[in-house]
Amino acid sequence: MIPSAYKNSRIPWKSDLCAVCMLATRSKTVEVQLTHGVSVMLCTMHASEEFRTMRSGRDFVATLTRCFRATRSMTRNHERALSAHLERLNRPQRTATRSLPGSYHWKALRNEVEHRAAAGESMRTIVADLRARHAHDVADVPSARTVRRWYHDGRWRENVRTALRKGYHHRDPAKASRAQKDRAHITRLRETHAATARAPASTLAAGAPP
Ligand SMILES: [Zn+2]
Repeated sequence: MIPSAYKNSRIPWKSDLCAVCMLATRSKTVEVQLTHGVSVMLCTMHASEEFRTMRSGRDFVATLTRCFRATRSMTRNHERALSAHLERLNRPQRTATRSLPGSYHWKALRNEVEHRAAAGESMRTIVADLRARHAHDVADVPSARTVRRWYHDGRWRENVRTALRKGYHHRDPAKASRAQKDRAHITRLRETHAATARAPASTLAAGAPP
C-alpha cells in the first residue's frame, strides 16, 4: 500500500504535519518562527532546541533546505532565514546565558518569554498569558509592546537566554504570589536548555570537525 494522507489514522487529525516527518508525523506540531517572515510547522522533536542547535545548526539547515526544495517552496527569504540561523549559531564567543548590554527589568519574565518562544509558542499567546497572569501584581507589568520587543529581539534564536538576576534560585517560592511562582514546564525548559547548551559550546571550543 502506498502511504497516503487519506483516511490515515496514524497522522494527527487537527494539526498540520511536520514539514520534515510529513506522513510519518506522530506527535503534535508547532509553528516555528524563523527570521525574514519565514515560519515552518514542525513536530516537537524537529522543533526542539536540541535539533535546532545540533552541530551548530547544520542539521537543522541541511534538513529544512531539502524539505523546502522538495516542495519547491524555497524562496529568497527561506534562504536568508536559513543562513541567518547558521550565522547566529556560529558567531564566536557564544554562551548560553549572557548578560547583555542595556539595563532592563523583568529579567525572569524576559527569560521565560525566550524559553517559550524557542519552544514554538506564538507571540500572541505569550503576550496574552503574561499580561493576564501578572495583571494583579504590585509592580507594574511590562507592556504588551515590551513583551513583543523581547520576542522580536529573538535572543532565543541564537540559543541565548537573558540571564536571571543573581540569587534568583535562592528565592523563597512560598513567599511569591501565585502568579510569580515558576511553573513546572518553564523550569523544565530552562533545565533542558542549560543541559543542551553546554555540549555545543565545548565542541566548538575543542575545534571539533563537522
Ligand atoms: Zn518531525
